[in-house]
Amino acid sequence: MKKIAAAILLFDLAVGLLFLGSWERIRRQVTADSEEVELAEAADRSDRMSDREQPKEVKKIALTFDDGPHPYYTEQLLDGLKERKVAVTFFVTGEHAALHPDVIRRMQEEGHLIGNHTYSHMQLTKKNREKFKEELLRTNEVIEGITGQEVEYVRPPYGSWDKSFEAELNMIPVLWTVDPLDWCSSNVGCITDRIVKEAGENDIILMHDYYGTSVTAALNVVDRLLEEGYTFVTVEEILFE
Ligand SMILES: [Zn+2]
Repeated sequence: MKKIAAAILLFDLAVGLLFLGSWERIRRQVTADSEEVELAEAADRSDRMSDREQPKEVKKIALTFDDGPHPYYTEQLLDGLKERKVAVTFFVTGEHAALHPDVIRRMQEEGHLIGNHTYSHMQLTKKNREKFKEELLRTNEVIEGITGQEVEYVRPPYGSWDKSFEAELNMIPVLWTVDPLDWCSSNVGCITDRIVKEAGENDIILMHDYYGTSVTAALNVVDRLLEEGYTFVTVEEILFE
């Protein structure tokens, strides 16, 4: 009987040890899990802290100017942009770029992005596809001849575009999200108000640097939107960042 009792005791002890062993494992696991949770919570807290410490998220917006360069108004616009440390995008015609290469060079030197707006401000139709393509290529040549940089972006006049050009020419079309119709209004206040009212984050605003009123309105818009906390970027930063 003693042997049986001893055997039962040993068995109990073994079961007890096994149980203790697994209990210890469970306890360790639970501790590790809660440590992980604590670490994750700490990381989350520090994320929220750094969110608070960082300045508000950047509200980006892009001003774009078509049809230039104009020998006087574009220079006036560049002066104002330089003063305000603002970068914009110019979609120039090959014709005007060839006439005013010094203005194109200045755009490049001052950090603006330069895109293609055809050679003679041509509208793409069903009948003139090849001629339109030639105009784009010719304009790229003019701009690249002045800046030494490949032209990647195109704004097709009136927004008429053929998607197959993108692969054929390796170019990216850039349309717009806000059109203040600045070319048909000579009222600076009206153009400015319309843009400021309509503009929102990541908008691409269509303007023209070929009119004095547009240039004055554009600089007013810059001042007002800077006050509202916007950061002006080139279209590249709106499309790809
Ligand atoms: Zn145009």
